[in-house]
Amino acid sequence: MPKRIFNFSAGPSTLPPEVLAQAARGLVNHQDLGMSVIEISHRAKPFMAVIEEAEQLLRELLDIPDNYKVLFLQGGASMQFAMIPMNLLRPDQMACYLNTGVWAKKAIKEAKLFGKIEVAYSSEGLTYNHVPAPADYQVSPGAEYLYFVSNNTIYGTQFHSFPTPHVPMVCDMSSDILSRPFDIRPFGLVFAGAQKNMGPAGVTVVIIREDLLTKTPGHLPTIFKYRTHVESASMFNTPPCFAIYVVGLVLKWLKGLGGVAAIEQINREKAALLYDTIDRLDFYRGHARRDSRSLMNVTFNLPSPELETKFVKEATALGLDGLKGHRSVGGCRASIYNAFPREGVERLVSLMEDFAARN
Ligand SMILES: *Cc1c(COP(=O)(O)O)cnc(C)c1O
Repeated sequence: MPKRIFNFSAGPSTLPPEVLAQAARGLVNHQDLGMSVIEISHRAKPFMAVIEEAEQLLRELLDIPDNYKVLFLQGGASMQFAMIPMNLLRPDQMACYLNTGVWAKKAIKEAKLFGKIEVAYSSEGLTYNHVPAPADYQVSPGAEYLYFVSNNTIYGTQFHSFPTPHVPMVCDMSSDILSRPFDIRPFGLVFAGAQKNMGPAGVTVVIIREDLLTKTPGHLPTIFKYRTHVESASMFNTPPCFAIYVVGLVLKWLKGLGGVAAIEQINREKAALLYDTIDRLDFYRGHARRDSRSLMNVTFNLPSPELETKFVKEATALGLDGLKGHRSVGGCRASIYNAFPREGVERLVSLMEDFAARN
């Protein structure tokens, strides 16, 4: 491996070096077949084994019961913003949404094309600096589902306890899936683009409870029906083979570390190092309200935009890349997903201490 930069990018984001090395080998010669993993037919045995193993590992790591189907789809997390209401909502039906960030807002915009949408809570007026507690909003009993985003990647906020509505939940877990254990049973559908915490861009995992498949209206184009992808085991059309292959390697790596409970512990320690530094030094200001702080994306500001620019520049020079905040909030953002090494967080903390002392 060449020298690695500590890559704080929000997505696509850093992957374990051992996974990259394995993927590089598989790209040239998959399991000594004399062919690349991206040269073989997706219906040939060696690739069927890849996709089946990825599904099995995901089921095992997230403890997914048999009445949930696991799909590997294309179109990114953003396609699910439309595909979900297309399948689960009719024009005379209603769904509840929690508007806790740009990704939630985009999902609301799409859902309005298909049914009635109630926005039960919005933190937009406070630059999305928090997520609500269950007591902060009401879900109408007539809602088909409650939609929320478990981790708001741009603002660095995260639900630390999930809603408890009497309707199925639909959740965008793009930026925190596999970062902590959770019980999937209150969820009707969970989805995640792979490129934050699971692998490369190009594949989106959708986990859907079987009974919801019957809600899909008949007039949808075949490719937009979840049922199509369930019935064809994610092989309705050519799947993104390489992305699925790498997701499989990441899942194997995670299992080797001890699984989701083990990585959660590590994630908590990494995030605590940064939040402690933000709170300890009278120089940095966290964007997220304390009760909503994300373990995946740590957002903070310095006393001025000029100092922020200087800080990011110094960080980059030290091999700490990707710390510039999203254009919609400014400031800095350290994305420290599962694969981000603790050593990189320690280096960032040193720079934060040193930079505050000098400025
Ligand atoms: C990145 C992200 C998305 C968008 O993902 P695409 O695959 O680019 O469509 C959606 N939701 C969340 C929470 C994200 O972090």
